[in-house]
Amino acid sequence: MSDQSPSAYRVLARKYRPDNFTGLIGQDALVRTLQNAITHGRLAHAFVLTGVRGVGKTSTARILARGLNCIGQDGTGGPTLNPCGACEPCQAIAGGRHVDVLEMDAASNTGVDDVRDIIEGAAYRPVSARFKIYIIDEVHMLSKSAFNALLKTLEEPPEAVKFIFATTEIRKVPVTILSRCQRFDLRRVTVDTLAAHLTTITEAEGISAEPEALHMIARAAEGSVRDSLSLLDQAAAMNADVIRADTVAHMLGHAGDQDVGDILQSALGGDVAAALAAFTRADNRGADAETIISDLLDLTHFASLDAAGSAMADLPESTASLTASLAKLGIAKLGRAWQILLKGHQEVKHAPNGRAAAQMLIIRLAHAAPMPTPAEIIAKLPTAPAGSSGPAGSSGPAAPTQTTASQTPAPSQTIAPQSQAPSPMPPAPSSGPHAQLAADPAPQPEPVTPQLHSLQQAVSLCEDDGQFVLAAHIRSYVQVISLTDSHLEISLADGAPEDLPAKMAKFLSHYLNHAFLVSLGQGPAEKTLKEQEEEAAHTARQEAAKDPLVAEIIGQFEGAEVTNIVPLADLQSDMSDDIDQSDK
Ligand SMILES: [Zn+2]
Repeated sequence: MSDQSPSAYRVLARKYRPDNFTGLIGQDALVRTLQNAITHGRLAHAFVLTGVRGVGKTSTARILARGLNCIGQDGTGGPTLNPCGACEPCQAIAGGRHVDVLEMDAASNTGVDDVRDIIEGAAYRPVSARFKIYIIDEVHMLSKSAFNALLKTLEEPPEAVKFIFATTEIRKVPVTILSRCQRFDLRRVTVDTLAAHLTTITEAEGISAEPEALHMIARAAEGSVRDSLSLLDQAAAMNADVIRADTVAHMLGHAGDQDVGDILQSALGGDVAAALAAFTRADNRGADAETIISDLLDLTHFASLDAAGSAMADLPESTASLTASLAKLGIAKLGRAWQILLKGHQEVKHAPNGRAAAQMLIIRLAHAAPMPTPAEIIAKLPTAPAGSSGPAGSSGPAAPTQTTASQTPAPSQTIAPQSQAPSPMPPAPSSGPHAQLAADPAPQPEPVTPQLHSLQQAVSLCEDDGQFVLAAHIRSYVQVISLTDSHLEISLADGAPEDLPAKMAKFLSHYLNHAFLVSLGQGPAEKTLKEQEEEAAHTARQEAAKDPLVAEIIGQFEGAEVTNIVPLADLQSDMSDDIDQSDK
């Protein structure tokens, strides 16, 4: 292939555009039906081809037009599924210059006048071909009156006229029209079929390609043969000798499977540093932040399917083994990761700096990883009294058996032990928010209703959910009067947004999974969390300043005062982080 210039590849999409039904891959059902109709001479007067963009509707319409009018190389052939491509009608139709085959795009000719031309023309016999054929693309765009005019012709179609309609939105085509058409649904071509097609083409063209690279192209084409060929063209032009998976990944803005797998495995294992390092690797290779997150979503989806016992069949081997190892995390954890990623994907899409947003998302994912799943929390509860406010009943004679009882229930067994998680961090107090994500199929006697114990918990819930504005507002403006299972009575500090109680109620009802009321009331209220924090910090500073050693230090510096207190442990870990960083 060294004697071929790269530009020779760029014709692939055109060269392999199907010119007969044998070349139309992945549409076997359509081809069979048409073959039957032609063999038995039962050709409809009108056909409607429907399917998503790029699936081959227009190609099919043109092949059909040729097949209907082909006369064969000897000029005696009848309608066929395999137009010869050599006869005069075949060549004229392929060149778009046959007087009896007319193509119209309904997207730009929607009016009744445009249709009237067709109808009038349809009354005359074809000039030279067997059939006069009208191909109307995007037929659903026609106006109502245009459809009505067309309907009259379809009701009593002239003998030698055929209509071929194509549409992406079959539901917008009136039933009166559809009922007079033979309908064909063009399927999205599966990834496997596309990959096999690309393999055949690369072999025929003498191009070497890694199977994984072709698979990646097939996946990116989303069922469109045309798109897959254009991508193959591009990949062939970019690669000097062999089409490699990593170059294709780069071309598509994807991270390699390896990087995506590393990000997800590290994040779900709670190793935020490794997850971010893998992200940076992918980023340095030119992968697009949004595409990385979307790949993470895909991988989470595949792993969840695997965990649910229905692994995807057409994954390349490397992805399949990655998926299998992630599946061990269990459906509940994967479900939670999916929710976080799905929400984060939107943020990354709209963020001014996608890369930063993606990094924040990965941090959030890793942060949530060690939190126990709802099923694990339930398994740890002494006994699971549904909905009641727990602690009161805990001092009964049942106490001695509680510890053993908590280890036996089934739910904890269905969650596979996390192979990834390094010695789990202490469970965060705010593990409630994800309660509604419980995907654990194990039967529970009755669901345990998550409860709100404090305003601080509400703030944590908001933050875990990424609702930082709401969290900040609650912190700054809400003064608690009373809190029960289903009702929070508050007063608001000056400057609070008016709709704050409503927003809180909506958010909390959603997370607690039951109606939760937030109302404004009168009476003595607690200070806002922000005031409480400031007070506590102030007190701590005063206490610290009294410490003899601190007092002596302050005495050494004129005007010095204690402004911040950092626990020694934090300071040490900060310092060791710095050291870690500088190692890299
Ligand atoms: Zn022909």
